[in-house]
Amino acid sequence: MLQRHDIARDGAARFGAGLRHHVAEAVAELGARRALVLSTPRQSDLALDVATVLGPLAAGVFSRAVMHTPVEVTQDALDHARELRADCVVAIGGGSTIGLGKALAYHAGFAQVAIPTTYAGSEATPILGQTESGEKTTLSDPRVLPGRVLYDPELIVALPVEISVTSGLNAMAHAAEALYAPDRTAATDAAALAAFQAFAQGLPQVVQDPADLHARGATQRGAWGAGRVLGQVGMALHHKLCHVLGGSFGLPHAQTHAVILPHAIAYNAQSAAVALRPLAHALGGDAPGAALYDFARSLGAPTALRDVGLREADLPRAAALATARPYPNPHPITEAGLLTLLRAAWAGEAPAF
Ligand code: NAD
Repeated sequence: MLQRHDIARDGAARFGAGLRHHVAEAVAELGARRALVLSTPRQSDLALDVATVLGPLAAGVFSRAVMHTPVEVTQDALDHARELRADCVVAIGGGSTIGLGKALAYHAGFAQVAIPTTYAGSEATPILGQTESGEKTTLSDPRVLPGRVLYDPELIVALPVEISVTSGLNAMAHAAEALYAPDRTAATDAAALAAFQAFAQGLPQVVQDPADLHARGATQRGAWGAGRVLGQVGMALHHKLCHVLGGSFGLPHAQTHAVILPHAIAYNAQSAAVALRPLAHALGGDAPGAALYDFARSLGAPTALRDVGLREADLPRAAALATARPYPNPHPITEAGLLTLLRAAWAGEAPAF
């Protein structure tokens, strides 16, 4: 077991190798007595381990979390939680499982402990995305924020390298877009840059040695920081494009972020060069989009939309959908501009800026 002084704290977050063994403490700190443990089917063994550690504080396990929080799954989990008289959820997994925990907290007021095993950062935001009949909607409500977040680097060593890279680039995307958000502050700028740097340094170490607990811990701190800024400032072009490509063309979440990020940042560097310069410097380059492209490639991330399932014929519709409704963005959004961006991203070309 960890000693108290081995556990670092930042708001609701706790950091430390072996922290999953302290989950009962976290549940008790929130004043809860009967926790329903949540996971995806793939991580059900982990959920059972957590239930064992919880002992009498475990009410049961629900291992059917899936991507994008469909309302039918939330309803099933809610019914199960009520049957078991649960007053708390412990979500162990990535953004999909944590999204289910947030949905249960939103609908039933349960206390929430999150134990993240990816870098997506949902555990740090008051944002809840839900899908109903194929339509994704998002809401922001402080009640969905987990009361405790336990970052245990020993858990994330199991995250396969390819997913570690794309998930890390997903977190870097939150930090990158925070730097030119209209509602940013000096504090969000500093937090975003620190999170970005944590991944710029830590991800290559993770690729080299996925079991490096120091690099895993540093990148988890980056995930918390990037998630926090995502919850504090508005996102722009990059997130809009990923939302369109995921929502309307079924592209995979983290891989799409990895491909789009260099291109969206290059597009916006045309108008936000000063805000984005620190990103390029963190990666040892001059042009932020080009530096991100080189970084992603060096880590073996996908760099072309055609490799993650988009057809060339879909590019004009994607550009039209991403310009259908206006939103704040540093560089003017035009359908022609986005089509050029998407063509380059589809072919896997390096951006110029
Ligand atoms: P995910 O949770 O869907 O996980 C992907 C797969 O990897 C799952 O099968 C999962 O069980 C498995 N997995 C996770 N961690 C693992 C580990 N350590 N070892 C082995 N396998 C592991 O993917 P994600 O990228 O973490 O989350 C994506 C979802 O989160 C999307 O629905 C996205 O919209 C949402 N999200 C929401 C917010 C928010 O603020 N609301 C922020 C970021 C992401």
